[in-house]
Amino acid sequence: MARVDVRDFVGFIREVTGSGPKGLHEPVFSGNEKTYLNDCIDSGYVSSVGPYVDAFEEALRGFVGSKFAVAVVNGTAALHLSLIAAGIKPGDEVLVPALSFVATANAVSQMGGIPHFVDVDESTWGVNPTELRFHLELIGQMRNGQLINKLTGRPITALVPMHTLGHPAEIESLIAIAAEYQLAVIEDAAESLGSFVGNRHTGLFGRLGVISLNGNKTITAGGGGAIVTDDEALAHQLKHLSTTARQPHRFEISHDTIGFNYRMPNVNAALGLAQLEKATNLIECQRSLFSLYERAFDGGSFGVVRREPDWARSNYWLQAITLPDTLIDKRDELIETAIASGLQCRPLWVPLNRLGPYKANPRSRTRVAESLYSRVICLPSSSDIVRRAT
Ligand SMILES: *Cc1c(COP(=O)(O)O)cnc(C)c1O
Repeated sequence: MARVDVRDFVGFIREVTGSGPKGLHEPVFSGNEKTYLNDCIDSGYVSSVGPYVDAFEEALRGFVGSKFAVAVVNGTAALHLSLIAAGIKPGDEVLVPALSFVATANAVSQMGGIPHFVDVDESTWGVNPTELRFHLELIGQMRNGQLINKLTGRPITALVPMHTLGHPAEIESLIAIAAEYQLAVIEDAAESLGSFVGNRHTGLFGRLGVISLNGNKTITAGGGGAIVTDDEALAHQLKHLSTTARQPHRFEISHDTIGFNYRMPNVNAALGLAQLEKATNLIECQRSLFSLYERAFDGGSFGVVRREPDWARSNYWLQAITLPDTLIDKRDELIETAIASGLQCRPLWVPLNRLGPYKANPRSRTRVAESLYSRVICLPSSSDIVRRAT
């Protein structure tokens, strides 16, 4: 085993970031943010009605190439609403990756569904199609055109694939399996704004796709989320549900179902629009950052920097390095040393099937999720690291 000096790890990161403290992923405000925010205040439209909400939706539609976009308060709410609009019922099991941010599973629980964890793939870090098929053949049975979990007796009605750290999952294979088993597909594209498979933006392969505009994502609205879809009826339903299911009328206040107060406020949309105008540029910076890290870590013994698959174009939202077997037991020390020197590094999420509330949930094997969790370190990934370096 090659001897490694933990301080070299920090040295390689510093070659890329230069000096000073570096967050994991900080927002960059260099465009029309202040102008649009001032405009909201001057106009009085700061809340859930206002021209920026429509303008943001319009711009997002153009950016991802979807027919419709519905702006909501955050990505978790977008997932929650999407599951409901897709017809998922309380008591249904919903297939989600074992390795994801907790929101993917929480949104399912919040609508009364049961997250059913599936292992991820060694190369994409998204749901593994081979494992998914193997697992469904093992535990599933079609009854009257519906997939039933033989072990629990409950229907399995949807799949929520996620594009991990912005790198696309094998979405076309996953869609094909979902079609065979009559599963609705809601893509968790929260991390993958600007990531494509072929010419198609992530989030547009399933019936509904969800994007997050949280503060640490590629672009931010302060807080925010959006659902993209080509399905007009679903888009209308989503907008209706997100605005308390209020019926249009000049003055009467009436609601035709139990809705949600999930509409994105105008101030957030103003920020989101200004950010979206810069998205192409920010993503170019994130992509360049990968090349800088790859060069810095090249020839060292800390493993490989995560690279996009050759069949996809990734936004490289978070840069990450995969430690070799020999360094797994050094993961925490490397992270702590980096943090102590002002560089925010993080492991991947604790696999969801291990979290307290999800310990007893149905699952496939989770070998790869566990392996990636034990060996991946996310590196400082703000797009302005590149803008300053160039
Ligand atoms: C960020 C994120 C979400 C949730 O988005 P919020 O806007 O923070 O609610 C959902 N899923 C994944 C995978 C995410 O990374």
